Amino acid sequence: MQALCWMGKNTVKMLEVPKPRVVEDRDVILKVTGSTVCGSDLHLLHGTVVELEKGDILGHEFMGVVESMGPAVKNLQKGDRVVASFQIACGDCYYCDKKQSSMCEKSNSNSIEAGMYGARTAGMFGYSHFTGGFAGGQAEYVRVPLGDVNLLKIPDSVPDEKALFLSDVLCTSWHCVVDTGVSKGDVVAIWGAGPIGQMAADFSFMNGASRVIIIDNNWRLDYVKEKYPNVETLDYTALPRGTTVTAKLREMVPRGPDIALECVAGEYAKGWAHYFELLLGLETDSSEIINEMITSVKPFGRIGITGVYVGFANHVNLGSLMEEGKRLMGNGQAPVHMYWEKLLGMIESGEIDPLKMVSHRVSLDELDTVYYKFEKKEDGMQKVFVET
Ligand code: NAD
Ligand code: ZN
Ligand code: ZN
Repeated sequence: MQALCWMGKNTVKMLEVPKPRVVEDRDVILKVTGSTVCGSDLHLLHGTVVELEKGDILGHEFMGVVESMGPAVKNLQKGDRVVASFQIACGDCYYCDKKQSSMCEKSNSNSIEAGMYGARTAGMFGYSHFTGGFAGGQAEYVRVPLGDVNLLKIPDSVPDEKALFLSDVLCTSWHCVVDTGVSKGDVVAIWGAGPIGQMAADFSFMNGASRVIIIDNNWRLDYVKEKYPNVETLDYTALPRGTTVTAKLREMVPRGPDIALECVAGEYAKGWAHYFELLLGLETDSSEIINEMITSVKPFGRIGITGVYVGFANHVNLGSLMEEGKRLMGNGQAPVHMYWEKLLGMIESGEIDPLKMVSHRVSLDELDTVYYKFEKKEDGMQKVFVET
C-alpha cells in the first residue's frame, strides 16, 4: 500500500509499504478514506521529536471504513464508517474512566517509562516512538489498536470532510476553550490563527465570549477576516517599531483580555531547538509568547497552553503571574474521547462547520508535496482534506 513516510529531518516521501495486519484481538484494520496534516506534523517533519525513525508512517488525524478486525472487537462491523481518535486509549484505566484519555495509563508503555522531562502521553498514531511508535493514518490502511474504544461511528448524514476533524482539531480547540474556562462576557485573545486557533475562536463565542482577538501574521489573518468576520485581528508582524503585542492589546482592551489561549507552539517560540540543548544540559529560553500572554491578560486572568512544548522554558515572568493572580495552565494533549460524541452532535445539527478551516482538497499520492506547501503555507494552504 501507499503511505507517507518520514525519511529524515525535513524529508517525507510517499512509499510502497506492507499493508498492516491484525496483531492483537481488539485491532481494527481501517481502509482510510480521509486524513489531514496538522501543525503537529510539522514538528515531526522538522525532526524535533527525536524518536522518529526512517520509514515511520505519519498521520494522526484520519477516518475510514472498517476492513477487518480481531475476534474481540465489540460494537463494530466490517463496512462501518468511523473516525479515529489521535490518541490510543484503553478505555478502562484510572484516566480513561474520567475520559481523560490523553493520559491513558496503559496504551503507551514507552512514555510512561521514559518520562525524560517529566511528561508522558497516551499512545498516539504517527507521532514518534516517544508516543508508542504506532504507524499513522496518512496511508491507504492503518491498524487501530483497541478499535472499539478508539473509533467513533459516523452517521450517513455527516460527510467525511466534516467527520474527519473529530480526530483531533475540533476536540483540541473545544478542550482548550472549556479547559481554560472561557465563560460569559469574557474577552479572549488567541495566539496563533492556524486551524486550532480558528476553531478556538468560534468555540469561545459559543461558550459566551463577548470579544475574540486573534494574533498572527497578515497571511493567516486575511483568511480569518474572510471566514470569521466576528473575530478581531492583531498582526504581530506589522506593529509600529517599539510597540509590543501587549501594548497593542492594551489599546484594544484597556484592562487586558480575561483569557489568553496559546495555539502556536514552542517550536515557533524558540522552543524546539532547546530540546537538544536540554539533552546537552544547557539552559535555553522558549518563553517569548508565554510572557506576552502573561503581561497581556488582566489580573486574575487565565492562560491556557495548547501549542506543543517539550521540556523546559526559562525566564517566565513569574512576578507578573504571582502579583496579579494570573493563572497559567497547560491544556495537555486534548482528551478526544471526552468530547467527540458531543461535537459530532454539534456537526450534525449544523452548530459547527469544520469546512470553514479547510482550504484544499488533495489526494494521498500528492501528500509529500503538500507537506512542504503546508510548511511554507504556500498557495494559501490552511487545512487540507486528503482523500484516500
Ligand atoms: P499551524 O502551524 O497551522 O498554526 C500555528 C500558527 O501560529 C501559524 O499561523 C503561525 O503563523 C502562528 N505564529 C507563529 N509565531 C507566532 C507568534 N509569535 N504570535 C502569534 N502567532 C504566531 O498549527 P495548528 O494546526 O493550528 O496547531 C497549533 C498548535 O497546536 C501546534 O503547536 C500544534 O502542535 C498544537 N496542537 C496541540 C494539540 C493538543 O492536543 N494539545 C493538538 C493539535 C495541535
Ligand atoms: Zn494534530
Ligand atoms: Zn486507559
